[in-house]
Amino acid sequence: MLGAPGAGKGTQAEKISKKFEIPHISTGDILRKEIREGTGPGLKAKEYVESGKLVPDELVVDIIENSIKGDKAGKGFLMDGFPRNIAQAKIFSDMLDRIGSGLDKVINIVVGSDEIIERLGKRRVCNKCQQISGIGEGQDGVCAKCGGKLIKRRDDEEDVIRHRLQVYKEETSPLTEYYKERGVLANVRGTGSEEEVTERILENI
Ligand code: ADP
Ligand code: ZN
Repeated sequence: MLGAPGAGKGTQAEKISKKFEIPHISTGDILRKEIREGTGPGLKAKEYVESGKLVPDELVVDIIENSIKGDKAGKGFLMDGFPRNIAQAKIFSDMLDRIGSGLDKVINIVVGSDEIIERLGKRRVCNKCQQISGIGEGQDGVCAKCGGKLIKRRDDEEDVIRHRLQVYKEETSPLTEYYKERGVLANVRGTGSEEEVTERILENI
C-alpha cells in the first residue's frame, strides 16, 4: 500500500487485511510500539519518527524480516509503510525472492496535498489500541473502539507534517514510477468515504 502520509493507507490496509484474513504489517505501527516500549530498536528510531524523517533502512529491514518470517509468508500479507524509498524496494524484492514469495499488487492511494495537510492536522489516535479517528469522531476525545484516550501523534504537528510531506515527495513518490515499470501499480483515488475507497481498491485486486 503506497500513498502520502494521511492518504488513508493504515485505515484501508486494516480493512483489506481483515477481508482476506492476512496480516497487516505496518512499519509505522511497529516502530511506534517499539518506541513506546523503549526497546533497542525503539530508542534508535525515536528521534527520526518524531521529527518526520525516515528511519535508517537497516533498522526497518530488521523489523520487516522478523514480521514476514514463518507462517505469515505462506498466506501472504499486506505491507503498509514499506518500502518507502527505492533502496528499501530493492531489499524487499530480494527478501521476497528468498522466501519464495512475490509482489502481486501495489495500491497507490492518491490524495491532493491540500487535503492531506487538513487531514493530518485533524487526525487523532487512540493511545491504547492505536485506532485512528478524525476530530469529532469518538466522543469527548475517547476512543469509540476501546475507551482509550485520543491523542495527537507527535509527528502530526504542523512543522513535522510539512517535513514528512517533503520526505514523501523526494524519497517515496519515485516508487510509483518504479512499480509502474514493473507492471504492478494501481492508482486509486483516496477521496470520498472510507467505504468508497475500499471498493476502489477491491476493484483492483
Ligand atoms: P504516515 O504514512 O502517516 O507518515 P507511518 O505510520 O507509516 O505514517 O510512519 C510514521 C513514521 O515512521 C515515518 O514518518 C518514519 O519516520 C517511520 N517509518 C515508517 N515506515 C518506515 C520505513 N519503511 N522506512 C523508514 N522509516 C519509516
Ligand atoms: Zn482505542
